[in-house]
Amino acid sequence: MARIRFTALEELNKRPNINADFPAVKISDYFGENVFSLEKMQKFLSKDAYKGVKKSIETGNRIDRRIADQIAAGMKDWAISKGASHYTHWFHPLTGNTAEKHDAFLNIDQNGNPFEMFDGELLSQQEPDASSFPHGGLRNTFEARGYTAWDPSSPAFVVGKTLCIPTIFISYTGEALDYKMPLLKSVQEIDIAATEVCNYFDKKIQKVITTLGWEQEYFLVDEALWRARPDLSLTGRTLMGHASAKDQQLSDHYFSSIPERVLEYMKDFEIEAHKLGIPIKTRHNEVAPNQFECAPIFEEVNLANDHNLLLMEVMRKVAIKHKFKVLFHEKPYAGINGSGKHNNWSLATDTGINLLKPGNTPKSNLQFLTFLINTVKAVKEHGDLLRATIVSAGNQHRLGANEAPPAIISVFLGKELDTMLNNIEKRVSGKKMTADEKTELKLDIGKIPEILLDNTDRNRTSPFAFTGNRFEFRAVGSAENNAGPMIALNTAVADQLKRFKIEVDKLIENKTKKDEAIFQVLRKYIIESKDVRFEGNGYSEEWVKEAKERGLTNVLTAAEAFKAYISKKTIDLYSRNKILNKKELYSRYEIKNCEYVQKIQIESRVLGDLAKNHIIPTAVKYQNVLIKSVRDLKEIITDNNEFVNISQRRIATIKDISKHTTSISKQVFDMINERKKANKIEECENKIVKYENDVKPFLDKIRYHIDKLELIVDDEMWSLPKYRELLFNR
Ligand code: ADP
Ligand code: MG
Repeated sequence: MARIRFTALEELNKRPNINADFPAVKISDYFGENVFSLEKMQKFLSKDAYKGVKKSIETGNRIDRRIADQIAAGMKDWAISKGASHYTHWFHPLTGNTAEKHDAFLNIDQNGNPFEMFDGELLSQQEPDASSFPHGGLRNTFEARGYTAWDPSSPAFVVGKTLCIPTIFISYTGEALDYKMPLLKSVQEIDIAATEVCNYFDKKIQKVITTLGWEQEYFLVDEALWRARPDLSLTGRTLMGHASAKDQQLSDHYFSSIPERVLEYMKDFEIEAHKLGIPIKTRHNEVAPNQFECAPIFEEVNLANDHNLLLMEVMRKVAIKHKFKVLFHEKPYAGINGSGKHNNWSLATDTGINLLKPGNTPKSNLQFLTFLINTVKAVKEHGDLLRATIVSAGNQHRLGANEAPPAIISVFLGKELDTMLNNIEKRVSGKKMTADEKTELKLDIGKIPEILLDNTDRNRTSPFAFTGNRFEFRAVGSAENNAGPMIALNTAVADQLKRFKIEVDKLIENKTKKDEAIFQVLRKYIIESKDVRFEGNGYSEEWVKEAKERGLTNVLTAAEAFKAYISKKTIDLYSRNKILNKKELYSRYEIKNCEYVQKIQIESRVLGDLAKNHIIPTAVKYQNVLIKSVRDLKEIITDNNEFVNISQRRIATIKDISKHTTSISKQVFDMINERKKANKIEECENKIVKYENDVKPFLDKIRYHIDKLELIVDDEMWSLPKYRELLFNR
């Protein structure tokens, strides 16, 4: 029995000592070498084609067919020069992963001669069919076709022998089947809205981009041990496992020196990432044992997100070479920290200004306050939607579970800014400001850069924290596609900025001076969004109570949280801004519900199987050893008192084992019954309620008994690698 576990441990001892072969050159020498960047386009494209693609990147407009042919030819030549034989449209279906279908450049002419071919049509559009991807009712089988279309704003790249072309994925009837299309739309909306608002302060600003810097947390586990844990390999998390006597109590892993084998792995995947133009900058050990983090230099959000998804792929692939498995699951192990993906978000102008960074003049600080306050207001308005975008079966283990940000969406600004907003609220009356009021206000605003320098508060318990020059959406799950939350945030802020503009313009029309009009509307927003601002401990009981009094929602079930996708408020928001229509939102809602159901269903099946086939047989085997030993003792020890004395603990253990195995058997039986009932329900929207309320709780109940048995049963018999092995071997 225990063979599996011990073989895995032996394998581990044979682990390779890979010393990644590092180029003896600077990172900047090979950075982006596998990317068809503008610089390379200039080399491989005609002047016309280069101008065309550059313009399309800047404006988001379509590229005309003639130019597309030229670009395709240049792209093909470049890719072939990098050793590529195939190309693929690389897209992000709603599974949250990336997808690709490779086609060779190969073609055959009329005379039967082979040649390499790739033209504008193949570059611009592909029809991968792909009818098995989740679509939430958007595609009927008779029109199951899905199209992918090139997104020139994210450059093509070569992985292995394949040219990858970032694309959007849409249905035959034009609905979005992916994350990229709505993300691009949200980027456009926020650009338009933010630029107009910027023009109150600086007429030169013509474009605003959204920036994202993600921090990716992950666990590493030895591949052999991972293989010996069917729960980990099938569900991404351990469904059982008693806490290791030592795990993260001593905080001795966090930021400590990176274990050698891990460091080799990190260096190796970073080289691949850098070649792909992914600007990875930071690496460190995280809080939990065998947990790590990496972060890039921030980029434009669409590119940043492509880079995050691509990096996750690279990390998975490179791990194979190092005999590691990388775990992106939000909660691979119970009882220790889980993993998130902090989304650092801001807005930047084409004049090089970060709109969430205060400047040196009162005017630029007023601009800063405008964007800060509008963002807070947007979060207040659409907190439920933001939450819906981060809920998943995996992230539910973190949200509201006293380690990650809670399920209550609030904003942290830091004491100084919080006070500043309170002062504005007090100083600006609804009426015309007096000269004194204006002076005080100006003085206040003038102080912003200084106060931010001192503002070193880092509230780790807030789901949405201001961190000096950006907001950090900390509640995003580590396995999540950032696009979901980014679409919601961009759209909410774009919508908010549009409203702001309307309100300010109205005041200006009524003869209020511009600055004063801006202040009045900002003050109104400060008051309206006050409830969402929270500076205290987001994990505390008091906050749960206070949030309730403030009327903030604290949605603990996924079923309830997902409803925000189809609330009237969200449908209006997304339609008004042309991001997703009602039909598309319903489809996403269904996909989220179904995915959640399937994940719990798989976990429940895996746990049931392991309980019946691994745990109970092992426990019974050990129990029989004990029973036999008691019988043998009885034969040897004739004095009854002495026998009772010696054997009573052993007999108690025998009974204990029975108690746990009986509970496991019974609960597995009950769980299967509940699953059967749940599976009769047709719609995922209703099924999820049953799965969440009646199936999911069994996972913890059954696990409790298994973990008790793990402590009782002879270590040599226990077949599954234990937490102390999974967490400390590397
Ligand atoms: P910390 O853990 O202290 O929050 P990290 O260095 O791990 O900081 O990550 C911070 C992330 O925030 C990086 O990806 C960084 O590039 C990003 N970031 C910094 N400024 C901005 C900005 N203006 N917009 C978006 N992301 C930013
Ligand atoms: Mg951070």
